[in-house]
Amino acid sequence: MNWNESFAARTHLSRRSAVRELLKRTAQPGVISFAGGLPAPEYFPVDEIRTATRYLLEHRPSPALQYGETEGVGELRDWIAAHQSTAGLKLYRGNVVITTGAQQALELVGRTVINPGDRVLVENPTYLALLAAWRPLEAEFLGVSGDQDGLNPDDLSQVLRRPAKLLYTIPNYQNPQGTTLSLERRRRVLESSLQHGVVVVEDDPYGSLHYDSAPPPSLFALNAESCDGDSERLSTVHVGTFSKTVAPGLRVGYAVGSKSLIEKMVLVKQAMDLHTSTFNQHIVLELLRMGILEKHLQRLRPLYRERRDAMLAALGDEMPPEAVWTRPDGGMFLFVTLPRTVDTQSLLGRALAQNVAFVPGEDFHVGTQVRNTLRLNFSNSGPEQIREGIRRLAVEIRSELAGR
Ligand code: PMP
Repeated sequence: MNWNESFAARTHLSRRSAVRELLKRTAQPGVISFAGGLPAPEYFPVDEIRTATRYLLEHRPSPALQYGETEGVGELRDWIAAHQSTAGLKLYRGNVVITTGAQQALELVGRTVINPGDRVLVENPTYLALLAAWRPLEAEFLGVSGDQDGLNPDDLSQVLRRPAKLLYTIPNYQNPQGTTLSLERRRRVLESSLQHGVVVVEDDPYGSLHYDSAPPPSLFALNAESCDGDSERLSTVHVGTFSKTVAPGLRVGYAVGSKSLIEKMVLVKQAMDLHTSTFNQHIVLELLRMGILEKHLQRLRPLYRERRDAMLAALGDEMPPEAVWTRPDGGMFLFVTLPRTVDTQSLLGRALAQNVAFVPGEDFHVGTQVRNTLRLNFSNSGPEQIREGIRRLAVEIRSELAGR
């Protein structure tokens, strides 16, 4: 059988993920990887997950192992609804769908809202796998520029001179840039979006991984304040996950929004996978009941802060003066910009030969090609490894700049 002739036309819109491909190579021992967005595995809450699992199997085997509702486990949805409620807007489980990671929540929002040809605004650069998820929906992506304070509301207003369906944004410790949208900009972004009838998808996997001070209120919370207690007036969807705060292997994420949007997403999800693993949802629920999440975050924050600081210090010590980089207040990434003469794809080949990996910035961009940037992850390597990896990388960058 010639499978190439049998594949549906839309499969041509799915590309290999640069990160996933790299992860295969960086799994080899000896490689210092700044490539994936992986949490520190030595800090997974293994004992707590073991306790939760034992408890479940002894006391609640039936709901944990049985098929469940597409919407997700009710008590877990209640917890998320309570957590996302604000002084002005009380949310209920009907405002929440549990998904198989935040990735599925994004896929579901896209399938529920985007028609072929719809204009979709994204930070430029943005999360690679979001582009991969929505490209087959034939979204027309438009990049909005930004800086250390996140996406630029003036550029957003400019882009919105022509209608757009949706704005996708990661306001906290953005992937790939590590930047955070300031409070003032959050208000302006929301105001323009409301004015132009644009759906806002707020993706927030990193918000609770803050190392200096907590981030400003979410776009969702700000939007909720103007809803007069009626969740149907929400135009923002908030997407969250337990991947970065508990463990990504559990694949438990969620979306919070107006009841009518969530109901539609549930219909779409039902046809995709019936529901997210009930077992894993119950594990997360038990961890929350045991009060593990906050305790675990208190362990993670200083650890990741130390790694971020080690990377910033190493960059300061090792990089040539032409290189610039972002200074994240949280999350897992920072973003480096090199002079235009450096192509980070070819730099990657040289870095891999020295057993160091990163992700070239090109695939995170929409519109014009940008070849001189790279993303560095700091959560998955210890401070010593970080120093050594940055040293090796800087040697390669210096020799690229010298034209060797
Ligand atoms: N959004 C962003 C910005 C991410 O960085 C990631 C994970 N890399 C996800 C969504 C997907 O997270 P999950 O593991 O919950 O599917």
